[in-house]
Amino acid sequence: LLQLAIPLNLLGMMYREVKQALTNLERLFGLLGEQLDIKDRPDAAPLSTARPEVRFEAVRFGYDPRREILHGIDFVVPPGGTVAVVGHSGSGKSTLSRLLYRFYDVQGGAIRIDGRDLRELTQASLRQAIAIVPQDTVLFNDSILYNIRYGRPAASREEVEAAARAAHIHDFIVALPDGYETAVGERGLKLSGGEKQRVAIARALLKNPAILIFDEATSALDSKSEKAIQAELDRIQQGRTTLVIAHRLSTVMNADQILVMDAGRIIERGTHAELIALEGHYAAMWRLQQERRDAVHAPQDQSSLR
Ligand code: ATP
Repeated sequence: LLQLAIPLNLLGMMYREVKQALTNLERLFGLLGEQLDIKDRPDAAPLSTARPEVRFEAVRFGYDPRREILHGIDFVVPPGGTVAVVGHSGSGKSTLSRLLYRFYDVQGGAIRIDGRDLRELTQASLRQAIAIVPQDTVLFNDSILYNIRYGRPAASREEVEAAARAAHIHDFIVALPDGYETAVGERGLKLSGGEKQRVAIARALLKNPAILIFDEATSALDSKSEKAIQAELDRIQQGRTTLVIAHRLSTVMNADQILVMDAGRIIERGTHAELIALEGHYAAMWRLQQERRDAVHAPQDQSSLR
């Protein structure tokens, strides 16, 4: 009986761990409480690719099928390339990243990686290949070490520290009284928006993914933090197929292609220079951001600030 009890106990432990991992994943996407019922097809195959091409083909989707959010989205992220998406709040930008991670299935068209429909792939291999730096990083009530290692639980302490160094958060951590053992999250140390995003970048680096989704934080950063995050982003997207959901246009200037979304449609696309020359929506958004920036950086005695 004892012989049977041990494996059963182990199974129980594994179940709890898997369940916790899933809960964490859902929290990561802000999806807790939603019904996620995507299942692997019996003939699903693993994705194996180092430099994948990502293709959206006439993608249609609504969280509620009666209210379509995306009305036919077409774009290609070439292997190792970067596509950035900009547009007003609610235009459907983050929905693209949730579909690429296959939290939901498309209702029309297809998303393909190296020509294979996501629905033909195992979810485990798909999610193994993708790392997400989300808008608002969820910190678990645990040590900062645990929180970074979450990107790859099998990573060694040295690997965690190397990722933290690359994300420019290591020095901050070792200066804390409890260093990497510092408790963070709701019941521990509260991190600023920029620090949280660095934890997310370290997690992503540790995962070393072929595909990177960077959902930029909406919260305003000072221009120094913005530059630092930008430099880190430039570095981690090297050689990876990257989708950037951008709220600041400074983030998208170096993208191979910029998509401008409006109410679930792509209304303009091109490089920064092409879109400026087009003198359309993007050019207008760009001018507005430049004006705001100039106003913020203007001397204090200017009346426009008051
Ligand atoms: P933001 O810039 O504010 O992050 P966004 O362009 O990323 O916005 P999405 O988050 O993709 O916009 O949302 C697009 C639309 O889908 C919105 O109208 C939103 O209300 C709706 N939506 C988003 N998430 C859900 C959800 N989980 N359930 C139902 N509707 C949703």
